Amino acid sequence: MSKNQEINKNLLEILACPLCKGNLEYNKKENELICFESKLAFKVVDGIPQMLIDEARKLD
Ligand SMILES: [Zn+2]
Repeated sequence: MSKNQEINKNLLEILACPLCKGNLEYNKKENELICFESKLAFKVVDGIPQMLIDEARKLD
């Protein structure tokens, strides 16, 4: 099993952005969950999304 385990699709469906509560899009290449509304990218570590705003990557 790879370290950068992909997120479970069912989990993705119930997740929402912690900032705007909007839908998240999964970026398979970066293994991140993206909120285009808030311009934030949340890392997925071992299949677990890191949904903390403070730890999210800001998108340009
Ligand atoms: Zn958002």
